[in-house]
Amino acid sequence: MELDRSIKFPDTDEAQDLVKWGLDSFHPAVALACSFSLEDVVLVHMAVQVRPDVRVFAIDTGRLNEETYQCADVVRRRLGVTIEWYFPKREDVERLEREKGLFSFHESLEARHECCRIRKVEPLSRALSGMKAWITGLRRKQGVTRSELKPIVRDEAHGGIIKISPLAAWEFEQLWNYVGHHNLPYNRLHDFGYPSIGCEPCTRAVQPGEDSRAGRWWWESPEHKECGLHINDNKQGCRTLQNQR
Ligand code: SF4
Repeated sequence: MELDRSIKFPDTDEAQDLVKWGLDSFHPAVALACSFSLEDVVLVHMAVQVRPDVRVFAIDTGRLNEETYQCADVVRRRLGVTIEWYFPKREDVERLEREKGLFSFHESLEARHECCRIRKVEPLSRALSGMKAWITGLRRKQGVTRSELKPIVRDEAHGGIIKISPLAAWEFEQLWNYVGHHNLPYNRLHDFGYPSIGCEPCTRAVQPGEDSRAGRWWWESPEHKECGLHINDNKQGCRTLQNQR
């Protein structure tokens, strides 16, 4: 998707302003990626203040927690958004499960990446097809793979579209304050010690003092804790737009 060279990049890092800029600049070719974490609920609420018809998409990997589905439906009704759900390709999941069983992701990093590629990365590529930008709930404090995250980058892994992370600088406490202030629904997994929301068999509660993604693929080392959706945010593949702002 070719970007309009006349787009003026914002000189603010304020979350609400970045959401507004993204929607004003790119709607309807911008969508908010939602996994029904605290971050995503905050962003959906910010977005509907700007555009009630904001595009929100979610990926149903087939392995999500029941609490996540419940949260999704409450968000849909309470915030008045349509969730554009994407599923993995049926034939790919059938082949994976027939050949390797239901828990192949525990066997190796390669096997885990294969499952994430089928259930998450491929549906994401369809969700972003035709988009000029997307909005994510990534934060620097989520772990070592995101510690150098910039709020606006060009996402080379998805054709060079703009990737906006309005909450890049936010702390977890700020999310709770926002949710409490606006009386927003949230995923009940957060009450059970899950700061990060993912697939049920690959996510568990964290211990006090652990970083927020310690419960994701807990059997792997921290530098591997990405599923392929945001794999380049600290390194190659994503150029920042600071020099254009
Ligand atoms: S998080 Fe686990 S179950 Fe979900 S797609 Fe990745 S490997 Fe598969």
